[in-house]
Amino acid sequence: MIRSGTCNRCGKEITWIRRESDKKWLPCEFSPVDAVNGGNERFITMKGETFTGRRRIIGENAIAVQVYVPHWFHCKGGSNET
Ligand SMILES: [Zn+2]
Repeated sequence: MIRSGTCNRCGKEITWIRRESDKKWLPCEFSPVDAVNGGNERFITMKGETFTGRRRIIGENAIAVQVYVPHWFHCKGGSNET
């Protein structure tokens, strides 16, 4: 489940994704990105699962999944919310 909202720390518009395993809402950056296997960056899938990979390079011919970047990497309000 996905809904939009604002971060209660920095006030930025973000996307909340509910993790199905424990029903916890995860704050993510507002817009999804395309990611591919093979990196070590962590993303959140539409179902709230962790996806480890890297962003697809523009023009790269690779199968990508649409994922979200965890907001806590960018939040100017501080603290890690996992
Ligand atoms: Zn924030």
